[in-house]
Amino acid sequence: MPLWAKLRPAALFARLSTKLTVLYAGLFGVGLVAIALMVNTVISANAQRTVRDELAANGAVFDRIWALQEKHLGDSAAILARDFGFRDAVATRDVETILSALDNLRGRLAIDRAFLMTMDGDVVGLDALTDAEADALWVALDARERAAGVLTIAGRPYQAVSAPIRAPDLIGWVVFAAELNRAHLQSFEALAAIPLRADVFARSADGAWLNASSAAVLEALDADVAPRTLRLAGGEAIALAQPLRAFDGGPESRLLLTYPLDRALQAYRPLMGSLAALGVFGVALLALASWFLASTVTKPIAALDAAARALQQGKRMEVATTTRDEIGRLADTFNRMSHEIAAREERITHMAMHDADTGLANRRALAGALGAMENAYVVAVAIDRFAPIRDAIGYRLAAELLRRLGARLQAAAPAGVIARIGPDALALAIACGDEADALACAERLRAAAAGATRLDGANVDIETTAGAAPVESGATQAALDHALIAIEQARQARRRTALFDKSLYGDPARNLSLMSEMLDGITRGDLTLHYQPKYDLRRGAVTGVEALARWTHATRGGVSPDLFVTMAEETGHIDTLTEWTLVRAIADQNVMRAAGLDYLVSVNLSGRLVGDDAFTKLAIELIQDTDARICLEVTETAAMDDPEAALRNIEAYVAAGVSIAIDDFGAGLSSLSYLKRIPAAELKMDKSLIKNLGRNARDALLVKSTIDLAHALGMKITAEGVETQAELALLASMGCDMIQGYVIARPAPVQTLAAAPQRATLRT
Ligand code: C2E
Ligand code: CA
Ligand code: CA
Repeated sequence: MPLWAKLRPAALFARLSTKLTVLYAGLFGVGLVAIALMVNTVISANAQRTVRDELAANGAVFDRIWALQEKHLGDSAAILARDFGFRDAVATRDVETILSALDNLRGRLAIDRAFLMTMDGDVVGLDALTDAEADALWVALDARERAAGVLTIAGRPYQAVSAPIRAPDLIGWVVFAAELNRAHLQSFEALAAIPLRADVFARSADGAWLNASSAAVLEALDADVAPRTLRLAGGEAIALAQPLRAFDGGPESRLLLTYPLDRALQAYRPLMGSLAALGVFGVALLALASWFLASTVTKPIAALDAAARALQQGKRMEVATTTRDEIGRLADTFNRMSHEIAAREERITHMAMHDADTGLANRRALAGALGAMENAYVVAVAIDRFAPIRDAIGYRLAAELLRRLGARLQAAAPAGVIARIGPDALALAIACGDEADALACAERLRAAAAGATRLDGANVDIETTAGAAPVESGATQAALDHALIAIEQARQARRRTALFDKSLYGDPARNLSLMSEMLDGITRGDLTLHYQPKYDLRRGAVTGVEALARWTHATRGGVSPDLFVTMAEETGHIDTLTEWTLVRAIADQNVMRAAGLDYLVSVNLSGRLVGDDAFTKLAIELIQDTDARICLEVTETAAMDDPEAALRNIEAYVAAGVSIAIDDFGAGLSSLSYLKRIPAAELKMDKSLIKNLGRNARDALLVKSTIDLAHALGMKITAEGVETQAELALLASMGCDMIQGYVIARPAPVQTLAAAPQRATLRT
């Protein structure tokens, strides 16, 4: 920041210490100025009072001196007036003698003016008077026996006294006058204790002041007899105007005593000076002290300020607590707060990266780990039938189960981040060269995670399914989803492990529109049924067919039933599809009958619909309205969500004359106790069991025991997906009842079936 910017008020006062300093120093300064003003006022009032007192005292002194002078002049005049020779000279108008007498006396007594006024109005011994003045003077003398006071002669003021001359009648007056000039007044000033100035102002007969110099002086002269402050050219002064009687009895003259205030205050000047110096020094000292104080007070606040800013920027900063006062406590609180914020942040980060139930890492954490890898695959491992297990053991133990699964996976892949990415699924990232490698790795991890787990003293046997998906062009979240979908795909394919199959999955957005298109397709006739024959080995003839839905989409072409059936199940349209299939199958059965084929028609009943009471009622009505012979294929796992409802409906079908086949047996979990309760007439072995029949002795054993199991439960057994004559022969030797598969025929439209009914022969 440039210096000028620092000195701008806004910038300057951004600091608390500056504010405090200015505030304290300012307050103190104001206080000092107030005190100085008060002292000044007191001093000047005091000085003025002293001066006024002094002036009043001097006024009184002057009065006495005036009276003494007047007496002195009067006495001298009286002596002369009574002098025989002088009286005689006046009576005889001996001017020479008069003048010499007057002169003689004036010289001796140091009188400025001495003259004689005759009864005729002649003035002897003074020629300065005009005729008018002489007349006025005569009138004045004539009016009184003895006149005394201020007399103006040729414009100058005099103290004059008169004495009558009688011989024995009044023949004239002697007038003695002392000039009230500077020298005279100075002798008076010299008597005063203070250096005042005295001036006499006389008035003319009409009252006008003769020698007043300024308006201020005039004002003072006209005022009452009391000291007052005057504003003169040379500054303020205190003035006292004392009245002086006029010689002729006219308007009074005034003695003006003035004293400049400046001089009065001069004595106090050093005091005021040191006071001011003390003030300046005090303010400076206080500013310094408050700056220091403010700095000590604000230093910890500034430290707090800095720490709070750092905290705002996500940095942690401890403030050192040095004091036990409020600021110290504030710093303590701040430290605790920042500590808690950090702890909370840690918790939030942990929460953001971990699953709350299990404490394992979450999707986000795994996505982060994936992002840093090359050739990355996500392997997800899910616990099969997690929901029913969780219902059985409770949420707490279910979470524990997931943690155990996590621990097993961690043991199998020590370097990996194990994250929970679904309610029943954990996942980790691995680096693999190719898909086969990834699949093998997924299988190894899945196998490691499966097995018996001891929870709260009880054994829980968990089966697992794994899915793997590659991370393509950094889309880590999508890879996580794909791994989960791969698990679903594995389950649908009745496999333990699967690699994500994009073609099978399709595009979710397109799949959604697919459903409405499917419903349209049903009404428009785009959906058809194909029939696959079921060959009865004992009778050597086809005795039934399985109805399989086919959809030829106008633009997409053939859509896999695995796709649209699963989607219909997931979107709640499976009832519409199945109802249509049932109606279609019943109609087609009549076509077959017309061609001389009396086949039992098997229709797939989705697991979702087995527990659906309303659909069961509808399906039974549809079948009973006709004389159709229908078998419903139900997967055994489908019934497991709500076994009671499933069993109730299955029993209702059986009671209505609809036979039941258990589909895909051997692909998923098998519960023998449940199997026993289903009143099924037929058990269909899944094609996965048949696939390795010729090559694998263990599979052969499994097939044989399944056949025996079906027979033991009183069911006929059908082998699905039989493709070769060898398989067929082996199954026949094992006592299998029926064969379904390409070896007999591929699924075909009903017309094809009616035209060339399959009559396969068994080569043994
Ligand atoms: P599924 O019930 O197990 O049907 C048998 C599947 O095996 C059919 O596949 C059939 O074409 C196939 N298959 C038959 N013989 C052989 C063989 O020798 N070798 C091999 N590898 N496969 C053979 P598709 O038609 O693709 O149907 C798949 C699944 O779709 C069916 O499995 C069934 O679960 C479901 N599905 C088909 N149509 C319907 C339907 O109308 N309603 C319901 N709910 N599901 C249906
Ligand atoms: Ca089936
Ligand atoms: Ca099947």
